[in-house]
Amino acid sequence: HAEEGDYEAAWRQLVTDNPFPAVEGRVCYHPCEGACNRGQLDEAVSIHAVERFLGDEALKRGWKIEPGAPTGKRVLVVGAGPSGLSAAWHLRRKGHDVTIHDAGPMAGGMMRFGIPKYRLPRDILDGEIARIVDMGVTIKLDSKVTDIPAMMKDDGFDAAFVAVGAHLAKRTDIPAREAGKIFDAISVLRDMETDEEPPLLGRRVVVYGGGNTALDMARTAKRLGAAETLVVYRRTREQMPAHDIELEEALDEGIILHWLTTIKQIDGTTFTVEKMAVDENGWPQPTGEFETLEADTLVLALGQAVDTSFLKTIPGVAITDDGVIDVDDTMMTGFAGLFAGGDMVPAERTVTVAIGHGKKAARNIDTWLRGERFVPVVNDRLADYERLNAWYYTDAPKTVQPALALARRRTSFDEIHGGLDETNALFEARRCLSCGNCFECDNCYGVCPDNAVIKLGPGKRFEFNYDFCKGCGLCATECPCGAIDMVAETI
Ligand SMILES: Cc1cc2nc3c(=O)[nH]c(=O)nc-3n(C[C@H](O)[C@H](O)[C@H](O)COP(=O)(O)OP(=O)(O)OC[C@H]3O[C@@H](n4cnc5c(N)ncnc54)[C@H](O)[C@@H]3O)c2cc1C
Ligand code: SF4
Ligand code: SF4
Repeated sequence: HAEEGDYEAAWRQLVTDNPFPAVEGRVCYHPCEGACNRGQLDEAVSIHAVERFLGDEALKRGWKIEPGAPTGKRVLVVGAGPSGLSAAWHLRRKGHDVTIHDAGPMAGGMMRFGIPKYRLPRDILDGEIARIVDMGVTIKLDSKVTDIPAMMKDDGFDAAFVAVGAHLAKRTDIPAREAGKIFDAISVLRDMETDEEPPLLGRRVVVYGGGNTALDMARTAKRLGAAETLVVYRRTREQMPAHDIELEEALDEGIILHWLTTIKQIDGTTFTVEKMAVDENGWPQPTGEFETLEADTLVLALGQAVDTSFLKTIPGVAITDDGVIDVDDTMMTGFAGLFAGGDMVPAERTVTVAIGHGKKAARNIDTWLRGERFVPVVNDRLADYERLNAWYYTDAPKTVQPALALARRRTSFDEIHGGLDETNALFEARRCLSCGNCFECDNCYGVCPDNAVIKLGPGKRFEFNYDFCKGCGLCATECPCGAIDMVAETI
């Protein structure tokens, strides 16, 4: 649809899977682009930029989705992060009545209290959440849930989805003769949203950790005026869990990285650090070489754990050795009717995975409520690069998104990356090779020597007359996008 300029139809298709295209077009690490066949031709299609364009267009034009016909079933959602909101969206589309309870003062979870504004402006997040509310989802804020089975029983919920994320900051014991200012990144980033005055971090800030949270924390400290921001990480650059793009942007903004370093002692504003060396198994080992760093503040960004305290007592709910909630392949816990997803279950911790869990849980809750089991559609064979006829496509370099000048980036929370305008978004959408999907180029129709290919008209693609087809396979060979499979006839 996007290639044809029918943006609304494209957006409507997109939101059948994901209610947050404007958010995801900004924060998703877009693993899809790593798999895009066009990457082997020139550069992958900038799928996230097109997604963002469609999401922004929907917000501008106020496109909405109607809820499904009422089913009379009530579902409780605990947590208004991406996973809970996605589950609510999909459940509402199926006609269920949904109430979300969230412990915080605003909806969005880590999309609001973690990801900084320079990567996700709040009007975009608010707009996509408002659309979910407009669909008839009730969100109760400042409402911490402590007993899910009791709430289900008392308030008459037929099923529940819990997605409370991972909010407990992990700590480490660092011997301190005189402890200076020590914060944890999750609290500082949260304060950025709730406190009127930004936290006072000082001129020299050390962030301890190597994930995306550490980098967002360091970049936030820089924007708050820190003259020097160091990230101290105990392993190598290659082992850093942070994504390359975030690391590059942090380095561009002047963040200083100390790899293979651990903090051994704090004495006021003096930090004694030890250099590490990687052993033959890739693990960092102490070297006995020490040096000192000066900093006003230490911010810990050592990862987050799930608060499972209110779930431990629910019969059947199991907690894994990693401290997350065990779910089966339908996302259901061991307590019948209680489903879980997002950061609190075993999986990669991203907005994308959390939204996917919300969708998967909603589908399974819907079928469970009807006493059925959801049967996933088995995808057709993948159209990999070898099935394409690359010669057919013209060269088309990837469109580049505009970016804020570095000087502005270091001093403001304005969004770094701009979106594509309509011309560029359309160009980018048209770079898609349509792998495995017929785009009506007429090649098969033209090459068939037996007139076995029947044209059905614009948008309707083609049919094959098997009485005429002699199985030469010319159509399949000439199809640019690998849309035709030759299958042996059974006689
Ligand atoms: C600094 C930072 C940057 C990140 N950047 C990115 C990024 O760029 N891209 C990306 O894909 N991912 C990113 N992530 C990860 C991503 O934000 C999370 O994986 C995602 O938000 C998890 O979604 P969730 O719905 O499981 O939980 P959360 O987003 O954590 O939401 C959980 C919600 O549950 C509520 N809650 C908690 N306990 C209760 C309770 N008892 N009762 C009621 N409500 C409760 C909380 O208030 C919260 O609103 C980042 C994370 C952080 C911390
Ligand atoms: S269909 Fe388009 S976006 Fe998907 S792999 Fe092919 S070229 Fe890339
Ligand atoms: S099936 Fe392939 S060759 Fe035939 S019209 Fe579609 S894209 Fe073109």
